[in-house]
Amino acid sequence: MSTKKLSEHFLPASSIGTEKKIISISFGPKKCGKKVYIQAGLHADEPPGYLVASRLLELLEKADNSGDILGEIIVVPAANPVGLSQWNNDTVQGRFDYFDNINFNRQYPDLTEEIAETITGRLGTEPLENITLIRECTAQILRSMEPAGETEFLKHLLLSLSHDADIVLDLHCDHQALIHVYMGTSLWPEGKDLSTQIRAGATLLASNSGGTPFDEANSKLWWELAEQFPDYPIPPACLAATVELRGSTNTDRQETEQDAQNLYYFLQRRGYIAGTAPELPELLAEATPLEGVDYITSTTTGILTFVKQVGEFVRKGDPITELIHPMNKPGAGEKVILSAKADGILFARCLDRFARPGKVVAKIAGKEALEGKGENLLTS
Ligand SMILES: [Zn+2]
Repeated sequence: MSTKKLSEHFLPASSIGTEKKIISISFGPKKCGKKVYIQAGLHADEPPGYLVASRLLELLEKADNSGDILGEIIVVPAANPVGLSQWNNDTVQGRFDYFDNINFNRQYPDLTEEIAETITGRLGTEPLENITLIRECTAQILRSMEPAGETEFLKHLLLSLSHDADIVLDLHCDHQALIHVYMGTSLWPEGKDLSTQIRAGATLLASNSGGTPFDEANSKLWWELAEQFPDYPIPPACLAATVELRGSTNTDRQETEQDAQNLYYFLQRRGYIAGTAPELPELLAEATPLEGVDYITSTTTGILTFVKQVGEFVRKGDPITELIHPMNKPGAGEKVILSAKADGILFARCLDRFARPGKVVAKIAGKEALEGKGENLLTS
C-alpha cells in the first residue's frame, strides 16, 4: 500500500490576491525514529535542484509502491514560491527577497539560546533521550513563534518541516561549478558518504558560517548545545548539508538522473530505503575548511577571460582570470590579472563575464584557513 502523502502549505499573502503555497511530499512511516528532509529551490533561480528533486521523487514513488521505504522521507521540490514569482527582464531573480533584499538562504531563526534555557536541568546521560528532549523543545519554540510576513512565514514553515530530521539536504547550485557540499565541521567525517556518493569535488566545513543559512539552522544548535552543556552527551543529531548541484545551466537529463540516483543510494545506504546500495565509490576530494575558500574577487571593472577551468587544481599565485577594460589603450599594460591566494581546487566561477570591484568571480577550496576572513564566510 502506498504511503505517499502530499500536503499543501499556504503562505500568508503579501498583497491582495497573491497567496502562494508550497507542497511537501512524504513517504514511509512517521515518528519511526528515522526522518529525512530534502528541499530544492530555496534560491528559486537555481534550476538543477528542482530537476533532481523531481527525479528523486520518481525513484521514491517506485520504492514506495514496492513497500521499500523504511524511514520517513519528506521532499519539498519547490521551496520558495516567493522567489519564483520574482521575474525581471525575463529571468527569475530568486536569491534575494525583493521586499527587503535579504538572501532567502540567510537569517533563519537561531534557536540555540532559547532551547538552552528550556533544557537546563532536564538533560540526562542518555544521548537518545537528550536528542528527543531537544527536538521536543525546538518544536515547542517553533510552535510559539508568530512569523510576520510571507518570507518570514516561509522560513519558519521550512524549518518546522525539517527541524526534527536526522538528515536535511538543501539542494542548490552555483554559477559554473563542480558538485560541492557545505556542512558543519562536527558532521565530518560522519557525512563523508554523502560527499562521496554524490561525487562532490569539494566539501566545505564550518561550525558557523555567519549567515545562519537553512542547513545550519537545523544542525548548528546541536554542537552549540553540546558546548554549553559539556557534562551531558549531545550528539550532532542532524546531518544537514547544502548540496550545490554544479552550475545553473547543468540541467542535462543524464547528470540530473545520476544525481537523483546518487541521493537515493545515499539514503539506501543509511537505511531509509530497503535494498543494498552499490559499493561506495572513492571520495573525490577531502573536506576543507570554509575559512580556506579563496574567493577571487575583482578589484576593478572590465571583462573577464578565465585562464583556469572549473575542476583544475591551482597553485597560489597562479593567474585565474584576466580582466580587460575596453576603454583602455590596447597593449598599454592595463590588463589586470586576478591570481589565486591558495593552492586548491577551483570549484566555482561566476557565469557572466562582467567584473566590478568587489565581485566574487571564482572560488578555490584551499586546505588552510585564510587570514582576514571575518565572521561572514559565505558570499552574499
Ligand atoms: Zn543557492
